Amino acid sequence: MLVRDILATKQIGKIISVAPGDKVSSAAKLLSEMRIGAVIVREEGNEIDGILSERDIVRELGRNGSGCLDNKVSKLMTSNVKSCSPMDTSQQVMQMMTDGRFRHMPVMEDGKLIGVVSIGDVVAARIKEVQFENDAMAEMLAGNI
Ligand code: AMP
Repeated sequence: MLVRDILATKQIGKIISVAPGDKVSSAAKLLSEMRIGAVIVREEGNEIDGILSERDIVRELGRNGSGCLDNKVSKLMTSNVKSCSPMDTSQQVMQMMTDGRFRHMPVMEDGKLIGVVSIGDVVAARIKEVQFENDAMAEMLAGNI
């Protein structure tokens, strides 16, 4: 399955983002309200300045305590963001996430941010694919194809 097809089935279609100057506390509130694990960080008009995941917040809470909630998002975000293309396959994206040890990837097309996929989206797509292949093989073995 292609990333393009995964994006088409996502329940939250819009891109949830915060500004680099926003407080970490408001990003945490958004993560909680939207039930997501990461937000895109971008200034109005920019495609992407960074990504902030729940892991970045928890790590800072563990190291420096709750004062980090007053920090700017830009202090905790990852700026070197790895993105994928809508034409990448679920397998390719899974491999990139495994190699990079992250669970979220922005999807870029012609330099434009068109969506975000998470490891949950990708795994769900792979399970569907594997189930489809299994069913087809079972049909073949039963002589129905
Ligand atoms: P995650 O597993 O996605 O919660 O993120 C783990 C770490 O990787 C955090 O420091 C994130 O800021 C960072 N991260 C998440 N997604 C990406 C990405 N696509 N490219 C680079 N870093 C990322």
